[in-house]
Amino acid sequence: MEFEPVIGLEIHAQLLTDTKIFCGCSTRFGAPPNTHVCPVCLGLPGALPVLNQRAVKYAVRAALALGCTVCSASIFARKNYFYPDLPKGYQISQFEQPLAIDGHVEYVANDTTQAVRIIRVHLEEDAGKSLHEGFPDSNRKTYLDFNRSGVPLIEIVTHPDLCSGAAAADFFARLRVILLAVEVNDGNLEEGSLRCDANVSVRLRGATTLGVKVEVKNLNSFRFLQRALDYEFERQVAVLRQGGVVAQETRLWDAAAGQTLPMRSKEEAHDYRYFPEPDLPPLLVGAERIAVVRATLPELPEARRRRFVAEYGLPEYDAGVLTRSAEIAAYFEQAAVSSSNPKAASNWVMGEVRRVLNEGVAAVAEFPVTPAALAELIGLVDAGTIGSSTAKDVFGKMLDSRRPAGEIVAEEGLAQIGDSAVLRAIVADVIAGEAGAVAQYRAGKQSALGFLVGQVMRATKGKANPQL
Ligand code: ADP
Ligand code: MG
Ligand code: ZN
Repeated sequence: MEFEPVIGLEIHAQLLTDTKIFCGCSTRFGAPPNTHVCPVCLGLPGALPVLNQRAVKYAVRAALALGCTVCSASIFARKNYFYPDLPKGYQISQFEQPLAIDGHVEYVANDTTQAVRIIRVHLEEDAGKSLHEGFPDSNRKTYLDFNRSGVPLIEIVTHPDLCSGAAAADFFARLRVILLAVEVNDGNLEEGSLRCDANVSVRLRGATTLGVKVEVKNLNSFRFLQRALDYEFERQVAVLRQGGVVAQETRLWDAAAGQTLPMRSKEEAHDYRYFPEPDLPPLLVGAERIAVVRATLPELPEARRRRFVAEYGLPEYDAGVLTRSAEIAAYFEQAAVSSSNPKAASNWVMGEVRRVLNEGVAAVAEFPVTPAALAELIGLVDAGTIGSSTAKDVFGKMLDSRRPAGEIVAEEGLAQIGDSAVLRAIVADVIAGEAGAVAQYRAGKQSALGFLVGQVMRATKGKANPQL
């Protein structure tokens, strides 16, 4: 019996408005606790919510970027539950009539086109934050910070179309890039402005019905998302193999222990008793308003990927890697245009540039080697002035000193010997001194030629142009 995981994601993204969704309080992160609050976001009796139209605009942008249909009328509801971080006793969210439905995100991974369908995108407000640590009496008390309460969120719900932890992490990364591209979210998983809950079940490979799902929370990095799903898949398979049944429950990822732990079971699950929010009218978004937002959408990552293939002749693989980050894509494009050698630019960016970026030395914008500087280096290789291994050394020196490639090559005398008269004399010396290898080559041993070229490289301290 072979099992497969079935995964659907619920993603919360904070919209980049300056003020909250139903009041004028600031949304800025990191302010002293309870300084960005007012009667509306504290839920004091009689306070009336007023919808932030900028939040609506950003939500529509996100929905369109995810290929959704924006509904002409959507409805805010009260989602009732009792929790200390929720002063009103209910969260205002969209339930039966969400802002947008039926989206579709396509992307290429491992050379195959993957598609994840989006069920819905809806608007809602965030809750406050419980502080369980950091106070002298934290062992006895929980403190509450309501700065976050009323911050605008969109919730994005996918169909269960993902079939591995790695695919889920890859999709979430691409979704993040889309939200960044349309500038509605800052993509910060650590500060919680982008959060992901994962639903996972298992079934026999090829089966068409769905198994019992478990919801996993507390996944604040791509790596944790993948690891939690891999762990949960193994756990559920083990339960089934022992003849047990998977319990429908919510579990928490414990990063330190590397496992998921039960949080609440279906019996304790909330019955939210949703009902329409009487203080807010239906949200009407007309066709004209949608058209205006659509007209201002930038190029999305998938369109950019296809353009990189069509315009620069890049392999699908390269284009997919480069468009996973808007900054990397822009960096590549500048280097490709300035060097007129897109494939070389792609190789450098996918290789050395990303390797250095992954070490966390600098952000793309502050990368010590600018795209124009990289293009100059590529030009030196293309002109035969330096070979590819020297180019790697020069790149390292450019990183350290920020000097241009041409200057480094000139000052350190790194240019290849491309003068055939000079090379001819050195080659003659090598042939004279290596009678054995020369005889082997004449007797038909091809590899002896490589040895002889190697001797020439040695004699010139690596500066001979081996092609020549
Ligand atoms: P709930 O009512 O528990 O929130 P939903 O039907 O709204 O459940 O689905 C929530 C998320 O769970 C969606 O992302 C959906 O794709 C996913 N999901 C639903 N059923 C399953 C299942 N059997 N296995 C994996 N994921 C599922
Ligand atoms: Mg749900
Ligand atoms: Zn407020």
